[in-house]
Amino acid sequence: RDRYSAQRSEPLVTMVMRDRFDHALVQHAQGLGVRVITGEAVRGLDRSVDAHGGSVIDLHTDQRRCTARAVIVADGATSPTAKLAGFVDDRQIIPALECEVWVGEADFARLQDDPRFDMDAIPHGYGWSFPKRDHLSIGVALFQKDDGDKTALKQHYQRYLQALGIQEVLRTESHGFVIPVSLRQGSLCQGGVMLVGDAAGTADALTAEGISNAILT
Ligand SMILES: Cc1cc2nc3c(=O)[nH]c(=O)nc-3n(C[C@H](O)[C@H](O)[C@H](O)COP(=O)(O)OP(=O)(O)OC[C@H]3O[C@@H](n4cnc5c(N)ncnc54)[C@H](O)[C@@H]3O)c2cc1C
Repeated sequence: RDRYSAQRSEPLVTMVMRDRFDHALVQHAQGLGVRVITGEAVRGLDRSVDAHGGSVIDLHTDQRRCTARAVIVADGATSPTAKLAGFVDDRQIIPALECEVWVGEADFARLQDDPRFDMDAIPHGYGWSFPKRDHLSIGVALFQKDDGDKTALKQHYQRYLQALGIQEVLRTESHGFVIPVSLRQGSLCQGGVMLVGDAAGTADALTAEGISNAILT
């Protein structure tokens, strides 16, 4: 095989653990004066216009009602709030399976320095192995509908583990979910409600990498 190499002055990718990263973002927002309310999901959304024709949006949770002029919806791949606001959902949504995997010393020593994107790992998809401090995040994503067949993704994952040559798995924590990899076609902003991140469908269409674009939007 031909090999190509390139050098960059800045890192191309950065590895994070989502729980710590998301917590740091929340703390940063709070430091800027944002009031963060946790443990309450948005259950209802009503829109009206005021006497001057401006948007008025009422959000309901189980515990309160908030009124706003503008709402930024960042509630992820399933985006119940976009549904409540009446946005049409024509995003391409793909299944993905990722596991936090603690492997034996020899396997970790071999894989700990290189984030891998293996575009030929599985048919109609790809596999990745991202080194974290003491373990690997290993996953597979399928760029075609699995028709609800969850076993296919698991089988692809097992084959990818073999392809990586992993000999010893000590512990695994799995997270399976979906990633929208195409934008909604219509306007992402309607009547004072704006969609961002996965709710809009901003993940990269080739790699399904969605964190950077979610932050940018
Ligand atoms: C298995 C897997 C692996 C992935 N790996 C990577 C990766 O390595 N790199 C990468 O860049 N991207 C990855 N992605 C994609 C990435 O996770 C998403 O693109 C990114 O998290 C989108 O950010 P977001 O803020 O739009 O949504 P999310 O991070 O999903 O956040 C949505 C938030 O909204 C909250 N919420 C949901 N409903 C409500 C409601 N009704 N009311 C109030 N709050 C609500 C949720 O609790 C959550 O906190 C992966 C996705 C999957 C499924």
